[in-house]
Amino acid sequence: MDKKEVIKRLIEEGYIKSEKVIKALLKVPREEFVPEHLRDYAYVDEPLPIGYNQTISAIHMVGLMCELLDLDRGMKVLEIGTGSGYHAAVVAEIVGKEGKVISIERIPELAKRAEEILKRLGYDNVKVIVGDGSLGYEKEAPYDRIYVTAAGPKIPEALIRQLKDGGKLLMPVGKYFQKLILVEKRGDKIIKKDCGAVAFVPLIGKEGFNI
Ligand code: SAM
Repeated sequence: MDKKEVIKRLIEEGYIKSEKVIKALLKVPREEFVPEHLRDYAYVDEPLPIGYNQTISAIHMVGLMCELLDLDRGMKVLEIGTGSGYHAAVVAEIVGKEGKVISIERIPELAKRAEEILKRLGYDNVKVIVGDGSLGYEKEAPYDRIYVTAAGPKIPEALIRQLKDGGKLLMPVGKYFQKLILVEKRGDKIIKKDCGAVAFVPLIGKEGFNI
């Protein structure tokens, strides 16, 4: 299947619907983010191994998360779990040059690889940082949107604190059975919505799992 066919199917299956998400998925070359020997599978809508026991997310999951986050131009977004850098590139397309994506990755080798690819493709609105994203990234807070691409035992307090009032956070929560949770911060109120069952690699860190 090619890129256009996959995206057409994701629209038909209801994963994606907004013009901005569709445009971003059409624009970002997933083949640049998958390992060289898996390039032929770049438009297979499945997670693919990227080394270090980690994966590049499936295309439908990246699209669905962008839709649920209701991203817009100019937003400042925190991503936890850079992985290949693919998801960050899709978000960077949506927030545009007037926006910014800060992405944290705990495995230095993956962070370096992602940073190089993003730079080569001209995504200078993405900043990759090596660290424990379960604590967020205070230095650039507050954020319009925060999303986590690994599953933790709970939503870290630090992430909620680093979210702007009116901001949204999306994170898979659970160990063997995970749910994608959307959090909305409205003043003192924290509103949580279950967006369905998912399967992600574990979030490893102080506010994640201690593996
Ligand atoms: N969205 C990525 C992509 O498109 O390639 C896929 C991310 S992969 C499913 C999850 C990533 O989260 C892995 O690279 C893993 O090393 C990272 N990770 C796990 N725990 C982390 C933590 N505490 N802080 C930062 N990154 C973490």
